[in-house]
Amino acid sequence: MPRRRSPQSPRVVHRTARAGLRVTPAQRRRLLGLLVSAGDVWACVLELNAWRRARQDRPLASYQELCRALAAAGPGTFGELDTEGARSVLRRYSDAWFATAQRRKGGDHRARFPRRRALVPIRWYHGTFALERRRLRLPAARGRPPLWVRLDRDLPYPPAQVRSVTLIYDAGRLWVDVTAEVPVACYPAGQEPDPARVAGVDLGIIHPYAVAGPDGQGLLVSGRAIRAEHRMHLADGKARRRAVAHRAPKPGQKGSRRWRHHRRRQRLAEDRHRRRVRQAQHEAAKTVITWAVARRVGTLAVGDPRGVLKLDAGRKHNQRTRDWRIGHLIAALKDKAEAAGISLTLVDERGTSSTCPACRSRIPKPAGRVLSCPSCLFTGHRDLAAAANIAARNGGGTTSASLVADVTHRRAGAHLPGVSPSRRDPRRRAHHRGARGSPGRHRPAPPT
Ligand SMILES: [Zn+2]
Repeated sequence: MPRRRSPQSPRVVHRTARAGLRVTPAQRRRLLGLLVSAGDVWACVLELNAWRRARQDRPLASYQELCRALAAAGPGTFGELDTEGARSVLRRYSDAWFATAQRRKGGDHRARFPRRRALVPIRWYHGTFALERRRLRLPAARGRPPLWVRLDRDLPYPPAQVRSVTLIYDAGRLWVDVTAEVPVACYPAGQEPDPARVAGVDLGIIHPYAVAGPDGQGLLVSGRAIRAEHRMHLADGKARRRAVAHRAPKPGQKGSRRWRHHRRRQRLAEDRHRRRVRQAQHEAAKTVITWAVARRVGTLAVGDPRGVLKLDAGRKHNQRTRDWRIGHLIAALKDKAEAAGISLTLVDERGTSSTCPACRSRIPKPAGRVLSCPSCLFTGHRDLAAAANIAARNGGGTTSASLVADVTHRRAGAHLPGVSPSRRDPRRRAHHRGARGSPGRHRPAPPT
């Protein structure tokens, strides 16, 4: 919950970064114990409301009511969990309950009220924890020593900006989400983004962002590394499934320990893949914002293609559009634009990739990257042409005389291991059989 601020104070945005925890086995036990206790708080609220429903009473859902019930439960009810931590669970429950109630009121009957869960994230607000570089002190219940843990990386925010930390368990590991109040960027006079300078953004698969700005300037961010990562992940997943298919449990049968281990490894690989793609998309969005700030672009008009994603386009293309993660691509750009003081609007992109930006005649969408117009002999990059069309429809100053001429090329995810053979990925077959330092081909374990 954002705190109240005086209207004169500089504008801020809230940003969250995740860091892993480096813990000893004993610390891990204590932290998991906290998450289990949070799960107990959650379960207690569910049970309380089940009783109330049986008595035909109104359920307790508001934060204040739940806090009163917690206070009535007395100290020491929830293991090592302190009051602030327990209250954050009540806040989470209350928010989830009201969000569901609102959706159901709006006619969405698939919305479900909160259900039982074993581990519930715990949030501590400013003043209850301490953060010193990579060391984090989490409070515990009265009479118990606080927990000191180490983060596995430096945080991107100065400690004074950090407002809350959230302890979570995800993908078999413990993490903290650190939320900070980041001030919106300030610029020297004459260098601030100008809202009248509009750039159009076309979202794509090969090029996550193609941007056409004023004065015929353009930016193309290549996403081939991301696509390579998707392909390798898909091939890797297939190989894994094939290798273990013979010991997959039958429906209704409990899996063996080996099978459970396999499932765990599969989940870890899945999560690593998701992190890699998200990271690369963040980098791509950052590139766009840096480019826009340097050119004093104050408005980004982003073509939103989500209308076309619902259409069935066949097995391969459906997979491609799912891999695209368009929602994250837009959200990452929006967040960074907001922090940079650039406004972003989503606009309908229909027809922008099949219109000539010079003479506005309709042309069939080309299969390759080059768009050439049969009526006015314009040729140019397809995605940049689409971006120029989006800009032109939303007040951008691109004219036929100054079509995108000065193009900056950038790559997203250049760090991804699948991007070139020189970057060694354990999923990739060794390209020189038996070469020194080569991990060699990964073979499945021999059948028992
Ligand atoms: Zn034309």
